[in-house]
Amino acid sequence: MGGERRWPEAIKQLLKGDADIKLLHFNFIDSKMHATTLDLYPLYVIIKEEFTTGILPLLRDIRSFIIVSDHGFARSKNIKERYSHGGDSSWERVLPFVQVTG
Ligand SMILES: [Zn+2]
Repeated sequence: MGGERRWPEAIKQLLKGDADIKLLHFNFIDSKMHATTLDLYPLYVIIKEEFTTGILPLLRDIRSFIIVSDHGFARSKNIKERYSHGGDSSWERVLPFVQVTG
């Protein structure tokens, strides 16, 4: 628990640094996708809420940033492993991204 309280401060320190490129890796979406049995829309709502309340406030002071995934997911009929990646389907190889400028 203590580590969770400290990581926003670590991110703030990283963002204050003078590196030209700063990279933050958030793995919570991948973890949720592997663990869920939910349909895409309710899963999207949960992930959006977690991102909006947990991650977005940390990015508030950044004028411009890019959010990119390192892979997509394919859906299967196996409810226990509903979403997976590592194959060569288009859904797994396409890298969704968004550029945010303020
Ligand atoms: Zn994964």
